[in-house]
This record gives sequence, structure tokens and C-alpha cells, in this order.
Amino acid sequence: MCVTNKVVLVTGASRGIGAATARAFADAGAKVALVARSTNEINAIAAEIGENAIAIGCDVADYGQVVAAIEQTTAAFGPLDILINNAGLLDPIDHLAESDPDVWGKTIDVNLKGVFYGMRAAMPDMIGRGAGTIITVSSGAAHGPVEGWSAYCSSKAGAYMLTRCADNEAREKGVRIMGLSPGTVATDMQRDIKASGVNPVSQLEWSDHIPPEWPARTLVWMCSSDADEFLGTDVSLRDETIRQRVGLV
Ligand code: NDP
Repeated sequence: MCVTNKVVLVTGASRGIGAATARAFADAGAKVALVARSTNEINAIAAEIGENAIAIGCDVADYGQVVAAIEQTTAAFGPLDILINNAGLLDPIDHLAESDPDVWGKTIDVNLKGVFYGMRAAMPDMIGRGAGTIITVSSGAAHGPVEGWSAYCSSKAGAYMLTRCADNEAREKGVRIMGLSPGTVATDMQRDIKASGVNPVSQLEWSDHIPPEWPARTLVWMCSSDADEFLGTDVSLRDETIRQRVGLV
């Protein structure tokens, strides 16, 4: 699928991977809705992109707000073609036995329930039209435990299973669903990880991380049929052949 004139909603677009993704889709000719809680930030990025972008304040942990964000996007640009479930939290960075249950639950609300809410709100219309792409930003943490990240690993593992379940039910109806595991990316999330000093990821050098533009450009590429072999699973940006296919190296 060429994304020119396609309608895209990116969650967590106020900074990091989401902000770079909104810019990458706009650069590729799409119409983009930027969604996050920090309205000043998304308003500024949307203004910078111009008439092909709108900013929508929304907490993805609230189903009603997710439904309203998709309705607002459709009213502005037409039916949603592409949903990028990118919004994410990492906290608490603590051993499970010492974790604050409320903070732990908030990460499940955003990273797991927020992804379900996006799929639940977007899929009926996509299935009805027999077209659409939903990509969830996954993580290596979806596939193995990392010390101090029990909420994050559990939420990402759950989101990966949502990708598999949604693909299982919607692929034959024309809807493309998959995940992107980006490796480590130079964003605020990695600053928090570094500051924690917990586990080997916090010991990485800043230069070990890829720039947010790499997952952003990969997400645009994943909207093309060239990525169809990855439906129902995660594309890994650690994979050198993927980097080559996207044109990053
Ligand atoms: P950042 O912390 O830089 O950005 C997180 C984004 O999520 C912000 O835009 C934030 O916006 C948004 N967000 C958080 N909670 C909510 C909410 N309740 N409702 C709406 N938006 C929300 O992180 P990254 O850019 O690094 O991460 C983006 C995604 O990539 C996440 O899913 C993360 O797990 C994943 N990822 C990141 C990696 C990395 O190394 N950086 C590695 C692997 C995966 P606001 O606060 O304004 O609401």
C-alpha cells in the first residue's frame, strides 16, 4: 500500500518514536492524526506538519476517548486506513516483589488495554471496508523476561498476543495486523532506563540506540505489501535484512 492520502492515527505522538512516525507518514503523503495526553506538544508538531495533520488529546487507557479520537480523525480526513498503536509506559522499574500495584496496573492499562481499545475501535470499519492496517509497537520484552520490568514485559507479551488474535480473526477480511519490535531507540524512555541502573539495558551506551526515525520509516514500509509475510507477528528491526529492505542501511 502506498500511504499517499491514506488516513493514519498515531498514538503516543507527542515525542520519541510516535512523533517521528507522525512526521514520516506525513512526509510520505499521508493525512495524520497525532494522539497523546500532552496537547501542547502534539499541537506544535501538527502545526509544523501543516494541513495534513491534526492533534487530538486522548488518554488511550480510556476506551471512550479512543473511540472519540477515531471519530474526530474520520470527520477531519475520512475513514481510518492505518492505526499505529505506539503509546507506551515502562514504569515501574522495580523487582516484582516490591512493585507498586497501582503503577504496575497503569502500564497494563496503557500498553495492553490501550492497544485492545485501539483495535476494538478501529477494526469494525476496517473489516466492513475489507481494508486497513494496524501496527502495534512491540518490544523484545514481549518475548522474554527483563529484570525489573515485569509490568512492561507482561503488557508487551499481552499486546503481542492481541496482534496474533486480531490477525487470526481479521486477515481473511482484508485487515493487515502486525507488530514492530524496534530494538533500543534513543528516546526519553531509554533516558529513564539509563537513570534506573537496573538490568543490562540500562548499561548500554547512548550510541548503541537507533534514532526514532528508523522505526518511523519502518512503520511506513510495513504498510506496503512487501511486509505481508509478517502479518500476525513482530518485525524485528534488529534484523539486518529488514534494515536493508526499509532502506535504512
Ligand atoms: P517515550 O516515553 O518517548 O514516548 C511515549 C509516548 O507514549 C508519549 O508520546 C506519551 O505521550 C505516550 N503515552 C503514554 N501514555 C499514554 C496514554 N495514556 N495515552 C496516550 N499516550 C500516552 O517512549 P518511546 O517513543 O521510546 O516509546 C514508544 C513506544 O515504543 C512504546 O510503546 C515503547 O514501549 C516502545 N518501545 C520503545 C523502545 C525504546 O528503546 N525507546 C524499545 C522497544 C519498544 P503523553 O505522555 O503526552 O501522553
